[in-house]
Amino acid sequence: MANVAFIGLGNMGGPMAMNLAKAGHNVNAFDLSKDALAQVEAAGARACASPREAVEGVEFVVSMLPADHHVESVYLGDEGLVHVLTDKQLVIDCSTISSEAAIYVGEQLQQAGIAFIDAPVSGGVGGAKAGTLTFICGGTEGNVDRARTVLNDMGKNVFRAGDVGAGQIAKICNNMLLSVLMVGTSEALQLGKANGLDPKVLSEIMLQSSGRNWTLEVYNPCPDVMEGVPSSNDYQGGFMVDLMSKDLGLAQQTALKSGAATPMGALTRNLYHGWSQQGHGRQDFSSIFNYLTPISKK
Ligand code: NAD
Repeated sequence: MANVAFIGLGNMGGPMAMNLAKAGHNVNAFDLSKDALAQVEAAGARACASPREAVEGVEFVVSMLPADHHVESVYLGDEGLVHVLTDKQLVIDCSTISSEAAIYVGEQLQQAGIAFIDAPVSGGVGGAKAGTLTFICGGTEGNVDRARTVLNDMGKNVFRAGDVGAGQIAKICNNMLLSVLMVGTSEALQLGKANGLDPKVLSEIMLQSSGRNWTLEVYNPCPDVMEGVPSSNDYQGGFMVDLMSKDLGLAQQTALKSGAATPMGALTRNLYHGWSQQGHGRQDFSSIFNYLTPISKK
């Protein structure tokens, strides 16, 4: 079992850190939120007062933070971990950030002799709780293999997409596709509902037909079709609209730079941006279902 620092204990990081503690690792935890910290402490982790305290004596540093600037500040800021980490430690950043930021943080750490991989995840809060996440890594083969000691206790798949930054590219490709599937599934369910169909029955039909996809299988966006998903809990918990909007912005930036055509990604980015502008940024991303309510029923 390993000594691990875990920084960022939100919807995803909280259950991931708890799974590490449950598996017998010694987890030093830190989050700016006292509530988040207390929950992870109750599950067996040691609560720390700062990231610097958390990384003392550990072999692995795992972070699960919202966006580029949080990751840059934790590792490279004035109080950044780059000033205290050593070549004995491996940094595993599981946040979804731009590949540029991952490469920049990786280079700065590497110059100080510290090993780094980006390891964004797929599987949502359900996967984080169940320990069934997919890790999509960027880094050397040696560092990705080394990370398996902790990743295997939080997920069931560990992929290496390429060098540092490649994990982030693969992750935004996946999330762009997910947003298209979520919007498409929401549209289909709203169309059926508006024409008198029971969304539960329609969901079962589409699940056994060619429209089958992950959102229908485990994350139905229509309230009360499926138990234990955000749509049946007033769209609380899960993956926030603002985080999906951030990921779709990253996908568009990446598409512009590489000349890739992503018309559906551009459309879903605008839909999520508009939904956030209407005050739904902190709801789960499946709440886009409500953006598509038929006009006559609004
Ligand atoms: P969240 O907002 O629930 O959690 C982020 C946590 O980071 C918060 O508890 C916050 O207090 C903490 N934090 C922010 N700045 C910090 C700092 N400087 N030091 C320590 N803690 C700090 O977000 P989340 O849903 O857990 O998402 C985290 C990352 O995972 C994001 O990059 C997101 O895109 C990605 N992600 C989320 C999901 C999902 O379903 N929620 C799925 C896959 C990937």
